[in-house]
Amino acid sequence: MATSTEKPLVQPAGIPRRARFRSDRTQRVNESVIREMTRLAAQHKAVNLAQGYPDFPAPEILKNAAREAITADINQYAITWGSKPFRDAIAAKYQRTYGLAIDPESEITVVCGSTEGMMVSLLALTNPGDEIVIFEPYYENYGPDTLLCGAQRKFVRLHPPDWTFDPDELRRAFSPRTKAVILNSPGNPTGCVFSRKSLEMIAALCQEFDALAITDEIYEHILYDGAQHVPIMQMPGMRDRTILVNSMSKTYAVTGWRVGWVLASPDLSESIRKVHDFLTVGAAAPLQAAGAVALSLPDDYYATMAREYTQRRDTILDVLDSVGFRCWRPRGAYYVMADISSFGYPNDVQFVKHLVEDVGVAAVPGSSFFENPAEGAQLVRFCFCKKYETLEEARKRLRKL
Ligand code: GLN
Repeated sequence: MATSTEKPLVQPAGIPRRARFRSDRTQRVNESVIREMTRLAAQHKAVNLAQGYPDFPAPEILKNAAREAITADINQYAITWGSKPFRDAIAAKYQRTYGLAIDPESEITVVCGSTEGMMVSLLALTNPGDEIVIFEPYYENYGPDTLLCGAQRKFVRLHPPDWTFDPDELRRAFSPRTKAVILNSPGNPTGCVFSRKSLEMIAALCQEFDALAITDEIYEHILYDGAQHVPIMQMPGMRDRTILVNSMSKTYAVTGWRVGWVLASPDLSESIRKVHDFLTVGAAAPLQAAGAVALSLPDDYYATMAREYTQRRDTILDVLDSVGFRCWRPRGAYYVMADISSFGYPNDVQFVKHLVEDVGVAAVPGSSFFENPAEGAQLVRFCFCKKYETLEEARKRLRKL
């Protein structure tokens, strides 16, 4: 896609002449389309339904806790794998919510967001050439994450309307070279929530092929229509072969804080902590102090949040439906995948270009969630973690379609 300055949305695969200083590993990776869409949204003053971050305020109690921590001079490095009060609060929350006993001393690594959590886990636990199973469509980052590690990727398709997988296809994706499967449920971009039965199938294959499950559980509390989140780490045989990645970003509406955590058995955590230490040393100390407050919030915080997101989901579905998109109703997370075939565009990138430049709404082209861009050519992702006014403004603008 070309912007007004003719800069391509997706960088071409060829290696430009000036690239001789760049490492081979970065040559395989394109710039994030999600983050680029946010830049384009700003440039065109579009309503940003592209990158998944709230435009409403973070909870007052967390902002106060962060301010107080800075005033109290919690301003120097925390322990590299996380401040003790924050790790204790994380452990207590997993115990309370899922009955999972996590040792804060040896099984938690606090990181700079789940983006770092995923990357350090892959760097710490995979070797170049290892096979990694990924459900597709997948959150854009897993592509570059695995490419930067030199992994061989095996994609397993999620099928609408419920974005479920074919068990035979999943089995065929596993081999003796499989090191890990990446799971994201509730899932971005589809809103899928894996059933207990699906998780049991994945758990059984992990054990049969001696593979790890690396799970991105960042939308664990954003669930609709009675859907339940089950951490695969809870399942028989999975406690010590699961790496659970999560963060404060989505649950507490603080995506800019960059505070996340990785839970894993002590031996795996030891490697993860090494990579984390040399990559970032640690996450922001005062924000970890506020994190301890966040993870101690009572259960009704999560219930209220899920209720509010349900209303936002229903609003965006109504908006999109009323202007001619065919949508799949998400059961979790805060994105909707929409089919654009009724609009007659050759592909998602051209459609999104028209949307951001002429209609004034930014979305993410579906191709960014597939290995083969053609598979997402009639799909677009909208995020709805936005104020009602923002969603209503999008409704007004989308009528131009
Ligand atoms: N998870 C968000 C999305 O999919 C964005 C995360 C990010 O940009 N770091 O839009």
